[in-house]
Amino acid sequence: MSIKTDVLVIGSGIAGLFAALKISEYADVVLVTKKNKAESNTNYAQGGIASVIDPKDSFEKHVADTLIAGAGLCDKEAVESMVKEGPERIKDLIEIGTKFTKIGDSFDLAREGGHSMSRILHSKDLTGQEIERALIHSVEEKNNIKIYEDAIAIDLLTEHNIFNEAKSIGENKNCWGAYILDTSNNVVVKITAKATVLATGGLGQVYLHTTNPLIATGDGFAMAYRAGVEIANMEFIQFHPTSFFTKNSNSDFDGRSFLISEAVRGFGGLLRTKGGNLFMMNYDPRKELAPRDIVARAIDSELKKRGDECVYLDLTHKKSQDIIHHFPNIYTTCLKHGIDITKDFIPVVPAAHYACGGIVVNLRGQTSLNGLYASGEVTMTGVHGANRLASNSLLEALVYAFRCAGTIKEHINGSDIKIPELSDWDDSGTLSHDEKVLITHSFNEVKQTMWDYVGIVRSDLRLERAAKRIHNIYNETEELYKKTRVFKEILELRNLITCSHTIIKSAKMRKESRGLHYTLDYPNLYSSGKIENTVLKNVKE
Ligand SMILES: Cc1cc2nc3c(=O)[nH]c(=O)nc-3n(C[C@H](O)[C@H](O)[C@H](O)COP(=O)(O)OP(=O)(O)OC[C@H]3O[C@@H](n4cnc5c(N)ncnc54)[C@H](O)[C@@H]3O)c2cc1C
Repeated sequence: MSIKTDVLVIGSGIAGLFAALKISEYADVVLVTKKNKAESNTNYAQGGIASVIDPKDSFEKHVADTLIAGAGLCDKEAVESMVKEGPERIKDLIEIGTKFTKIGDSFDLAREGGHSMSRILHSKDLTGQEIERALIHSVEEKNNIKIYEDAIAIDLLTEHNIFNEAKSIGENKNCWGAYILDTSNNVVVKITAKATVLATGGLGQVYLHTTNPLIATGDGFAMAYRAGVEIANMEFIQFHPTSFFTKNSNSDFDGRSFLISEAVRGFGGLLRTKGGNLFMMNYDPRKELAPRDIVARAIDSELKKRGDECVYLDLTHKKSQDIIHHFPNIYTTCLKHGIDITKDFIPVVPAAHYACGGIVVNLRGQTSLNGLYASGEVTMTGVHGANRLASNSLLEALVYAFRCAGTIKEHINGSDIKIPELSDWDDSGTLSHDEKVLITHSFNEVKQTMWDYVGIVRSDLRLERAAKRIHNIYNETEELYKKTRVFKEILELRNLITCSHTIIKSAKMRKESRGLHYTLDYPNLYSSGKIENTVLKNVKE
C-alpha cells in the first residue's frame, strides 16, 4: 500500500504539530504518530517554556544563561536567534488558544535553575498538556492535514530504496518519505513526499529510569543514523535530578518515572539526605538552583556515599495553599502514592530526561540529507551545547518547527521535485514472531547496561564494557530482524540499540568532562584544545 503527499511529518509533539500547522498554510500534510496523537514528551512537560517577556529581562540575559548552562559548546548564533524569535512564537501559541497562567493581567513568570530572571511561562504544572491540547485542536481544524495514529515510521525512503537500483547508503542525496508500520492491521505503508519532517522526540527509554514515556525510544535518531544523516553530541544526556521515587517507579507510572519539576526547587524546595541534612551547599554556591547536571551528580554522589535509595525534596516550610496552587498535579499524584507534599518530604532520584544531541540541523531546520528536515528533541541545533537550560527545549522545538515550515515552502515551490519509483516494503521470506521473551529480555538488558555504565558518571572501562554488551545485543537483534515480519517491539529495540551505540561512541570520543558528560578518567577537566562537537555519520552498512 502507498500514499503520496506534499509533506510527511513524523511525530505529534510540539515540533510535529506546529510544523504541520504552519506547512498546511501552503501544502498538504500527512502526519504520522506512533500511538495516540497526544502521547509525547510534550504532553508531560510541567515547568514551562522560557522566553523574554518581563520588561526587566533582556535577550542578552537569556542568551548568557543559555551559554553558561551549555558549558562552552553552544552555537552562539543559534542561541541568539532562538531567544530573539521566542516572543513571536509564544504569541503564535497564545493565538491558537494556549492558556498560560496569569496573575491579574500579567503572565505568572516562574524561575528555574540556571535562569537569572523569572521567564518561564507555564500553565500551572501541566504546561505541555495545555500546549498539546491547543495544537491538536488547531491541527484537527485543517482539512489538508491527515493524521494517522498507531503508525510507526520504520525507515526513511532514500536513494537506497529506488526500485531495481541498489545504491550504497553512503551516497544518499535525498529523502522522499518513509516506510510506516500501521500497527492497527500490521501492514507496512510507503508514504512518499516532497519533504519529510522528523519530529520524533527523545530517547529516554534507552535508560532504566527515565521521565520519558514509552514512545521515547529514539526512533528518529536511529532512522537518521541508518540513512547516513549527520548526528552529533549524543553523549550529552540530561538526567533530571528529581523524579519521584517509589519501589516500583517504572510500573507505577506506565514505563516512566514521574517528574518532580525543576520549578519545585525554583519555588524554594530544599534537598535533604535521609537523615534530614541539607547537602547542596557542599557542591555549588547556587545550592538547589544550580544547573541540573550539578544537582544530579550531587544526588548521585550522596546516594553512593550513603548507600541510600533516594534523597528528599522538602517543601514543608512553604504555605500549604501556595504549594497546592502552584503544583496541583504533583500534589495529587504524590498523594495517590502516600506522600502529602505539604507535610512530607518527597522521595526523589535522578532519571534520564532529555537528549541534547541529535540530528544536526542548520538555522533553517535542514539536515545533511536533501528533503529531510527536523525539529524538536531529535535535533542538535547548537542551542543546548553540553547542557540544556531548563525550559529551553519547548522553545527550541517551536522555533525550529516554524523555520522548517518556511524552508520547506521554498524547497517544494522552488523546484520541480521528481520522486523516482521506490520499492514497496518487501517482507517475503520472513515469519511472524512468537518469541517475545527474546525482545523483552534484550530491551531490559540495554536499559540496565546504559544505566549502569553510560549514566550520570562514566569511565573508559564502563564505556568499553557497555560497547561490548550492546554490540552482542545488536548482532542477535539484527539476525532476528532479518527473518522476522516487522512488529512494533522489534523496531523499537533496534532503535534503542542504535541510540545506545551512538551515545557510547560519542562518549568515548570525548576525552574530557564537560556539561552533562562526566567521566572519572578525565574529571574536572575542560579540553585545552579546540572545543568540538562529536559528529557521527554512519557510512557503511
Ligand atoms: C516529564 C517531562 C517534563 C518536561 N518538562 C519540560 C519543561 O517544563 N519545559 C521544556 O522546555 N521542556 C520540558 N521537557 C522536554 C520537552 O517536553 C521535550 O523536549 C519536547 O516536548 C519535545 O518535543 P518534540 O515534539 O520534539 O517530541 P515529543 O513531544 O516527544 O513528540 C514526539 C512524537 O513523535 C512520535 N514518534 C516517535 N517515534 C515515532 C515513529 N517511529 N513513528 C511515528 N511517530 C513517532 C511520538 O509518538 C510523539 O508523538 C520535559 C520532558 C519530560 C519527559
